[in-house]
Amino acid sequence: MPHHTSLITLLCLGFVLAFLFGMLAQRLRLSPLAGYLLAGVVAGPFTPGFVGDQTLAPQLAEIGVILLMFGVGLHFSLKDLMQVRRVVVPGALARIVLMTALGFGVGRFFGWDDGTGIVFGLSLSVASTVVLLRTLEDHQLLDSRLGQVTIGWVVVEDLAMVLALVLLPPLADSLHGEQATPLLPVILKTVLKIGLFIAFMLVVGRRVIPWILERVAGTGSRELFTLCVLAVAMGVAFGAAAMFGVSFALGAFFAGMLLNESEFSHKAANDSLPLRDAFAVLFFVSVGMLFDPMILVQHPIQVLLTFGLIVAVKWLVTWASLRLLGERPGDATLAASALAQIGEFSFIVIGLAVSLKMMQPEVRDLVLAGALLSIIANPFLVTPLVGRVKRRRQLAGANTPGPMSELVNHTIVIGYGRVGRDLLRLLRDRGVPVALIEEDMDRVIQARGEGIPAVRGNAVLPQVLAGARPEAARLAILAIPRALEGGEVIAQLRKLNPEITVLARAHSEAEVKHLLAHGADAAVLAERELAHSLTDMVMSTPPYRPARTT
Ligand code: AMP
Repeated sequence: MPHHTSLITLLCLGFVLAFLFGMLAQRLRLSPLAGYLLAGVVAGPFTPGFVGDQTLAPQLAEIGVILLMFGVGLHFSLKDLMQVRRVVVPGALARIVLMTALGFGVGRFFGWDDGTGIVFGLSLSVASTVVLLRTLEDHQLLDSRLGQVTIGWVVVEDLAMVLALVLLPPLADSLHGEQATPLLPVILKTVLKIGLFIAFMLVVGRRVIPWILERVAGTGSRELFTLCVLAVAMGVAFGAAAMFGVSFALGAFFAGMLLNESEFSHKAANDSLPLRDAFAVLFFVSVGMLFDPMILVQHPIQVLLTFGLIVAVKWLVTWASLRLLGERPGDATLAASALAQIGEFSFIVIGLAVSLKMMQPEVRDLVLAGALLSIIANPFLVTPLVGRVKRRRQLAGANTPGPMSELVNHTIVIGYGRVGRDLLRLLRDRGVPVALIEEDMDRVIQARGEGIPAVRGNAVLPQVLAGARPEAARLAILAIPRALEGGEVIAQLRKLNPEITVLARAHSEAEVKHLLAHGADAAVLAERELAHSLTDMVMSTPPYRPARTT
C-alpha cells in the first residue's frame, strides 16, 4: 500500500469496519462501543489481514478526544463544577491514591518492578470521559445531578492525570537510579502552567470566544457557525498544548466550558455533534488496534484480576466515597457503575510509561485487556440501574405527563424561566388552557406542582414537541432566550401543525429577523418592551405626568 494513502485507507476501513461491527453489536444487543473496539482489533497488527497505520491511528484518536472533551465542556459550566466540588474533589483524588497503592501492591505480588506497579495502578484509577459521556447521553442523564457528579469526577481525574503525566519522566529517572530531577520544581512548574492557562482562559477566552461566536451567528451562515465552533475547539486545544503545555483534551474542555455561558452553546453542541461522533468512533477503533488478543489465552488469571480491579474494586471505592460524602444510595450506585471503567487517559499514561521504560510491555497489554472488557461490560452494569432509577422517579411523579391528553385549543409555552413562568401565571389567571415544554427536570417538577401539564425535554426534538399536542393547539409561545434554537423549534412546530400561531421572544433585531424568517407570526424584542415600560413609568412620574384635569 503506498504510504501517502495510509490516512485515507485507515479512515475508510476504520469507518467501514466500525460500522459493520457496530451494527453487529447492536443486533446482539451489545453496546456499539464493543463493536468499534472489535473493528480495531481486526484492523490491528495482531490479527491477519489488513493492518492500519500504527502511527496515524493514535492521532485520529486524539482528535476524537479533543472533540469529546469540548462537548463535555459545552455541557459543563464552572457553576456545575463548584456545586459538586465537595463530593468530586476528595472522591476522585482518594480513588486515584487508593487504586495506585493497590496497583503497586498487585505489582509486588506478581513480581513486577515498582514503576510498573505504580503505573498499573494509576492507569486503572481514571475513568474514561468518552465512555461516561456515551452512557450519560444514551440515557439522557447529562443534565441530571448524576451527570454533574460523574462529569465533575472525571474532570478532576483528568486534571490530576495532566499532573501525573508531567511527573512520570522524573519519577522514571529516579526509579532507574539515575540522577533524578527533583520532583517539587516540576510539580510547581506544571501547576503554574495550568494556572496560567486557566487564568488566561477566564480573563481573555471568556470574553473573546462568546463574542466571536455571536458575531458569526449574526451573519446567519450555518456553515460559518459550525466552522467557528470547530475552529474554537481545535484552536484552543492546540494553543493550550503549544503555549502552556496543557493537554489538548483539557484545552478543548475549557473552550467548551467558556462557550457554555454563551446563549449559542446548544447550537454549538448540536453542530459539532456529527463530527464528534465520527471521531469518537475512530478513538475506539484505534484503541482496539493496540490490543493483542493472545493475552487472554496466555495470562487469563491476570486479565481477570485486572478486570476485577476495575469493575469491582473501583466500583466499591467509588461507591464508598460517594456515600461517605453524602450522596444518596441509588445515586451512588449508579455513579459508581458509570465510573467503573477505564479509557483514554489510561492509554496515554501507559503509552508514556512504556516509552520511558517504566512499564513492562506485557503489563500494558493487561491494562488494554482490562479496558476493553470494562468498556464492554459497562452498559450491562449501568442500563438496568438506570431503568430502576427512572421507574422510581416516575412513581414519584416526576415524569408523569399530566392531564395532557384532554387538551384542545390550548397554548403551548416553551420554557419555564424568567419569562415563561410569569406568562403561564398570567395566561392561567385569564382562563387560557396551557401546556408547558421545559428541558430542566427541576423546573418541570415545580410547574407540575402548580398544576401545569408539562413535558420534559428539548423542544427541538419532534418527540418532545409531540407530547404537548401541537396538532390540537391554537398558539405556541417560545419563551426561551436562544433564538437560533427557537427557529428550529418553529420549523418543527409548523410541520406538526401548519395552522398554529407562533409568538417568540427575541433579544436583538437579528434574532427578530431570524425568528420571523423561520415562520414566527410575531417576535417580541424584550429590550424594546422594557424601554416602553420604563417610558410609561417615567411619564407617570412628576413633573412629566400630565396634570390631571378635574
Ligand atoms: P430564562 O433564561 O430564565 O428565560 O429561562 C429559559 C427556560 O427555558 C429555562 O428554564 C430553560 O431550561 C428552558 N429552555 C431553554 N431552551 C429550551 C428548549 N429548547 N426546550 C425546552 N426548554 C428550554
